[in-house]
Amino acid sequence: MITKELYPEISEESIQQALATGAGKEYPESVLNKKIGDETKTKKQKGLAFILLAIFVPLAGFSLIYSFFKPGFLSLYDTGDRVTLGSLFLIGVVILFALNRQPKKVPQPIEKVVKNFYYNLPSLFPYGNSFQSYLILAPNTMEGLSQDEFEDFWENVNEDIASAIKYQDTTACAHCHKSSKGLWHVEKIWAKGDIPKETKLFFECPECKNVYCIECFNGLPNRHQCPQCGKKLQDEKQGLAFFVPEPTVKRSGLNLKVQIDQRDGRIGDVMCEMTFSFTCQRFSPPATLYGVSVEEEFLSLGEKGQVIVRVRNKAVKIGENWRLLSAGIC
Ligand SMILES: [Zn+2]
Ligand SMILES: [Zn+2]
Repeated sequence: MITKELYPEISEESIQQALATGAGKEYPESVLNKKIGDETKTKKQKGLAFILLAIFVPLAGFSLIYSFFKPGFLSLYDTGDRVTLGSLFLIGVVILFALNRQPKKVPQPIEKVVKNFYYNLPSLFPYGNSFQSYLILAPNTMEGLSQDEFEDFWENVNEDIASAIKYQDTTACAHCHKSSKGLWHVEKIWAKGDIPKETKLFFECPECKNVYCIECFNGLPNRHQCPQCGKKLQDEKQGLAFFVPEPTVKRSGLNLKVQIDQRDGRIGDVMCEMTFSFTCQRFSPPATLYGVSVEEEFLSLGEKGQVIVRVRNKAVKIGENWRLLSAGIC
């Protein structure tokens, strides 16, 4: 398992500056103006839809009632037409009601602010507008920092992760002493049937940890009995550890954990832990084997397939909201 820790320096000045900020000014003016601009635009669009519907809904309702007294009004003769108009009326009422509802502004808990931020970072999480989230959630360190610098930083983290999972082993056969390097030690293989016919494939005895090359393994008598400890390796196919050449490594998950150690009511030490897990696929397994999803379980890199990136930040509470100070760069 590889752990990367990032401790950004956050100056006392930045903290004091944030603490001195009044409620409602969690974001710098330029960011706030953009936020207000976006909100005004949405409000305008909603207002227009509201006006149009406010005209249509009463008209539809009135026409419907009137057509019962004056059959033929607006060509509403049969039940089908009335059902259609009635449905439109009802849908209109529902939309009107929804448009009129004011969204409740709930202050975001710090965990959510931090998670939103890291989920929106570039490359590590290839969706969302990273810079936008940086502007809004960590405005304090935004000054004097370009998007390029910001992206460079995370590219470096990515390279660290890439190098961390490129770990490869060297091993030798305990029987014929043939050795090979550039192999991956995988802890688990699920293929119960045929053992994949791979060159440079080595098996590790789960009991005594001695390693055998595929040729020697196949030649072991008595259900592939380990000459060192006597374990019958044939029975252990499911639990055998392998050394395989160049598997394809695939990111299989990201787990994001936020931990807050509150120093006092308004300053929090924020620790964000991102765990990346990887699986490698060398063979093409069936989708499921005995009801177990093979894609994830087929080859497991165990602890080697995990990279943890920890970033420590500070957060300051302004009014009811939190401002995240720095995001690994200062
Ligand atoms: Zn051998
Ligand atoms: Zn053994």
